[in-house]
Amino acid sequence: MNFELLVATNNAHKLKEIREILSPHHITVYGMKDLNIDIGEVIEDGKNYYENALIKAKALQQVTRMPIIADDSGLEVLALNNKPGLYSARFANECGGHKEAFKVLFKELENKDRSARFICDIVLVNVENKPLLFEGIVPGRIGLEPDGDTGFGYDPIFICDELNKSYASLSEEEKNRVSHRGKALKKLLTYLKINGYAS
Ligand code: IMP
Repeated sequence: MNFELLVATNNAHKLKEIREILSPHHITVYGMKDLNIDIGEVIEDGKNYYENALIKAKALQQVTRMPIIADDSGLEVLALNNKPGLYSARFANECGGHKEAFKVLFKELENKDRSARFICDIVLVNVENKPLLFEGIVPGRIGLEPDGDTGFGYDPIFICDELNKSYASLSEEEKNRVSHRGKALKKLLTYLKINGYAS
């Protein structure tokens, strides 16, 4: 038995994380490039992570009937009213990249509580006749300076409570074990196992 899953992302880092968690369970994970699928730019104008993930999944549903997962994630800083949150990617772009975004966040957080959390919503479609949601939430804080050089995005400045280390100073295996995406993927895996799609 082998379950084939298409991931609605062009982010090679995300794809790698997803593959590492799912592949050992007889799941073949394809990225869009692997299948020569190009759906152009998808406008993510949902009201929350779930809606944005669903928008990406539905865009791919137009071109294939195979099982699809799409994820949407965000970094929420409590003292900044949960910013950048849903707009984490846009915030980094507008700052001129993640490194610049770190500086802006450090400035905004001077003398403030640095508690934060990372959220990941994964939506699975084309398996049941309704979309299914799997969510991972990881509490932590924003570090005083960037730390570590693995991973991507906000990894150097997010310190997860569980290991008290920045995501970017974790090995791939450690990040997958504790991260927001790892937690959401483990819930997805449990669903796939219970329903006989994975072992
Ligand atoms: P999206 O889920 O691809 O829309 O990502 C939203 C933003 O959060 C982007 O700026 C990503 O780089 C960032 N992001 C998503 N997942 C992670 C992660 O695991 N670590 C660090 N940054 C992430």
